[in-house]
Parts: sequence; structure tokens; C-alpha cells
Amino acid sequence: MRRILRVLSLLGCLSSGAVQAQELGGLAQFLEGSVRDSRVGAEVHLKVSQGVPWRVFTLTDPDRLVVDFREVDWQGADPAALRQSEKVTALRIGGFRPGWSRLVAVLALPMPLQQAGLTVDAETGAAELLLRLGAADRAAFDARAGAPQDPRWDLPPASAVRPVPQGAGPVVVMIDPGHGGIDPGAEAGSASEADLMLTFARELREVLLRAGGFEVAMTRDTDSFISLEGRVALAHAAGADVFVSLHADSIDEGIARGAAVYTLAEDASDAASAALAERHDRDDLLAGVDLSGADDRVANVLLDLARLDNTPRSQAMAQHLLDGIRNAVGRVHKRPLRQAGFSVLKAADIPSALIELGFLSTAGELANLQDPAWRAGMAAGIRDGLQAWALEDAALARLRRQ
Ligand SMILES: [Zn+2]
Repeated sequence: MRRILRVLSLLGCLSSGAVQAQELGGLAQFLEGSVRDSRVGAEVHLKVSQGVPWRVFTLTDPDRLVVDFREVDWQGADPAALRQSEKVTALRIGGFRPGWSRLVAVLALPMPLQQAGLTVDAETGAAELLLRLGAADRAAFDARAGAPQDPRWDLPPASAVRPVPQGAGPVVVMIDPGHGGIDPGAEAGSASEADLMLTFARELREVLLRAGGFEVAMTRDTDSFISLEGRVALAHAAGADVFVSLHADSIDEGIARGAAVYTLAEDASDAASAALAERHDRDDLLAGVDLSGADDRVANVLLDLARLDNTPRSQAMAQHLLDGIRNAVGRVHKRPLRQAGFSVLKAADIPSALIELGFLSTAGELANLQDPAWRAGMAAGIRDGLQAWALEDAALARLRRQ
């Protein structure tokens, strides 16, 4: 994931892309791929030498699947050889704008996008993109077709920030299980924060999907290391409407009890919050990723674009999450709404919150986190909070546009 940071840091200087890309670590290389028919629809599989920002969408007249990539060298990719499909009638790959390339698959049938994910091999750094198209469905395909409006991709003014879907479409939630891989997070005996958060994240995903009205993506679904900025990049790549990071840290002194919800502060509001944020960022440094420079460059140019609008939305989401959690599990931290400079909350255009579910250093809290019934209650509380917030945010978005 280290190279994602290099690529991301280039987003700050879009106009001078190519030259600096080579200076700073080079392009991702296309390795292999295929476009095949599946039993119901079709599958696109592409492997590149490192993770890169990407996005996918569909268009009509003619029906097409479009995938955009940042900084990928497609030399060696032969579209004619890649296309091993009857349902994809043509395949094109080429430059799209400086620093960006685009793959276009012309579809014989209106096959809606059903699954899209990029996984990065923790060992090699190679990234695999898998896209699944479902059975032909004209109505569903047409309903979802269209190029996404994402400020990260073409730097529009802050006023163009995409609101949560207006009641019609699902809310895309990026769940971020904290830590992972060589960074276990807090530990208590044989339990680690990274494992507990992955378990809880998977359960929360199920709860949200069962509720309806949500699409869910996860920054990691394995025990793998992902840098903090990489997590934010994944949220953008997934077109997330909200970002929810899950943690359960330990404290060195005293007993801490109850969940707390954090939003981003430019300057942490108190010493404890600052120390927690610093520890999270240091975990990234310990893993060998130097965040300092990349973070500044990205922050200055990109991440401030929409913050004016995003901050109140994040804070409202945190309040709703807290209300949902309080209703579901009864007790929350004595100062439950907090602000800290967590790097993982720095998406400028995606309302973001970090939930400290509890504290591994407190025996009762560890027991809660290991109790499926308690976790089910917590997941239900987060679901309720997200539902309440999404309704309110959609109503406010209508007002904002008037
Ligand atoms: Zn943590």
C-alpha cells in the first residue's frame, strides 16, 4: 500500500502529472487480465503492479462499462486478447486525460454492475480489480447508469459536493475496521483490536445489508495492513457516501468505559484525544509508511475543498450514531462526542466518523466485544444512527439546494 501514497500525493499536482510520477516511483504496470462471460453476466479481472485510485461506472446508448485508473501503464495490455467474451462486444483501453487512463467495454446486453472491488496483496503490493456484471436487466441498468460526480476526480468547486442520495438510491457505507496486518492495534491477552474490529465490521455489514437502503464496502476484509490515507482512498474509489472507522483502543491509566464517536478536528480538542490520534498515526509510521509529506500535499490541495460543507454533516452523523448506540447498548462514554486529528477521517467530501466501541484495557469492555449478543446490539445501534442521519441529511440537502 505504500505506493498508493505516492500516487495519492500526486493528486495535488494534477497539471504536471506524468513527469513527477516517474520521479516519485513510476506508474503501476498492467500485469494480466481477462474479460469473460460468467454464468449470468460477465466478469472483468485486471491485475496491476500496485494499488491505484480507480472508479467504475456504466453508460447507456450504447451500453458500456467504464473503468478509470490513475497512473497505470497499459503497455502490454492487448484489448483483443483480453476480451474472451460474447457479451462484451468491444474493448478499448487508453489515455483519458493527463495521468488518467480509461477502459471501456461495450456490452451486448444491459448487464448491471453487481460487484466491484480492488484488493492489494500485502506481500507483493500487486492489486487485483474484479468487476462482476449481472444478468441483463434493462430497467436496473438504466437506473444506475451515468458518470459519477466525485470532487476527487476533477476538482470542481466545493458547492458541487455530492449529497447523500435523495431517498431513492442506497447509502454507500465504507466500514473501516481499524488496524490489521503488522499493526494489531490494542492488545489484551490473545485478543487484538484488529481482529475484533474485523469481526465486528463483518457483522455490521450484514446488519446494514439486511436493513436495506445501504450498500456496504470495507477497507479491509482480511487481516491486512492498510495505511490511513489508503483507507480514505478506498472510500473515494468505492464512491462511499459515509465513512465509519471502528476501533477499540486501550488506555494506559485508569478505567475507561463506554463508546465514543469522534469527528475530525484540525487541532485535537484535548490531550487525550490528541494522544490517541497520534498513536494511530504512529502505527502507520511504524509500519514503514511515511505519512508526513504526502498527507500535507493531499490535504492542502484536495482535502480542504469541501470541508466547510462536510464538517457539519460529519458532526450530525456522529450525533446520530451516538444516539443510536446509546439506545441500543444503554451506556456510552462520559464524554461521548469528541474531536481528534485522525488522518483516517480526512476525506474532505465524505462524512466521516470514528467509533471507539469500547476499551480493550477494561475487562468488562473486552468481554462485551467478545460477546456476539452485545455486538449485535451495537451493530443495530449504528444502523439506527445511520438511517436517522441519512434521512435528515437528505432533507437538509434539499434545503441547501434552494
Ligand atoms: Zn485503534
